Amino acid sequence: MPQLSVVVPVYNEAPNAEALVSELRATLDRLTLTSEVVLVDDGSTDDTFALLAAACGDDARFRIVRLRRNFGQTAALAAGLDHAAGEIIVTMDGDLQNDPADIPRLLDVLEAGADVATGWRRDRKDPFLSRQLPSILANLVIGATTNVRIHDYGCGIKAFRVEIAKGMKLYGEMHRFIAAIAGDLGATVVEIPVNHRPRLHGTSKYGISRTFRVVLDLLTIKFLSGYSTRPIHVFGFFGLLAMVVGLGITGFLGVEKLVFGVRLADRPLLLLGILLVLGGVQFVTLGLLGEMLARTYHESQAKPIYTVREVRQPAPTRAPAVSSV
Ligand code: UDP
Ligand code: MG
Repeated sequence: MPQLSVVVPVYNEAPNAEALVSELRATLDRLTLTSEVVLVDDGSTDDTFALLAAACGDDARFRIVRLRRNFGQTAALAAGLDHAAGEIIVTMDGDLQNDPADIPRLLDVLEAGADVATGWRRDRKDPFLSRQLPSILANLVIGATTNVRIHDYGCGIKAFRVEIAKGMKLYGEMHRFIAAIAGDLGATVVEIPVNHRPRLHGTSKYGISRTFRVVLDLLTIKFLSGYSTRPIHVFGFFGLLAMVVGLGITGFLGVEKLVFGVRLADRPLLLLGILLVLGGVQFVTLGLLGEMLARTYHESQAKPIYTVREVRQPAPTRAPAVSSV
């Protein structure tokens, strides 16, 4: 079993394929750890696979996992993690924007005790308006809503202890929130500045439309990390609040009608009261449904609601004395 696995998702990166493999090889050759590389060809429609295969040659450290179609970066990463056997897992982009030469420094951070080392593109080489600005805003919002505080959530180069990497369940486009997801598992996440290079060949696979998807994903992450085991607390809170106010209003109007004989036909407040009561009942019901779903979610995957760092048990000091009668 190798000590280190490097996982790289690649999609239509033909012009970068050869340099990617040779840079990775140069880095691994300098390491003292035993290593492997899992390249995931995410359904490329150009020559990426053939060029990667040619560049890897008969170097047994390199494996290419070829997906049947384009499943997206998150799925490609998940496939790579499933095929990785190392005790430490490094992920990075396959477009040469990340520099494999940073890997040893990330490994040092893990050596020093962190569970996850993540890159910070301090001197980022991407267009400002279309890439950097949205990313600055996204980083601010993600930082404010999740419990991991770093500068750069979007950087592709990261190193993980295997139990953290394999404990993450990745869906949709959640690769952007890996640091937050790892933090939610209780991992200590440490960020270090890394080298970032402009994209010289090929094109970026994402446009500005990702902004909306990031906001929606953020909502999901926030809910799952904060409330996935107690959805009734979110929905129930709003539900009860609406019900109390609604019952107050309808009760008040009811007394007016029944005791004082006031006409209610021209009282819009009545509508609000009814709406609040109904909305409140629905929110509470949604919370209860959520509770049932949460139990199915955890139990169907045998997914515990906690993560254990280690179990310490002192070894027995002495064998029990044998007593003879
Ligand atoms: N990628 C992938 N599948 C996709 C889209 C992207 O495997 O559907 C890979 C891509 O080849 C690259 C990495 O994910 O290695 C990051 O993509 P990109 O450089 O386009 O993102 P950006 O750096 O512009 O955020
Ligand atoms: Mg890129």
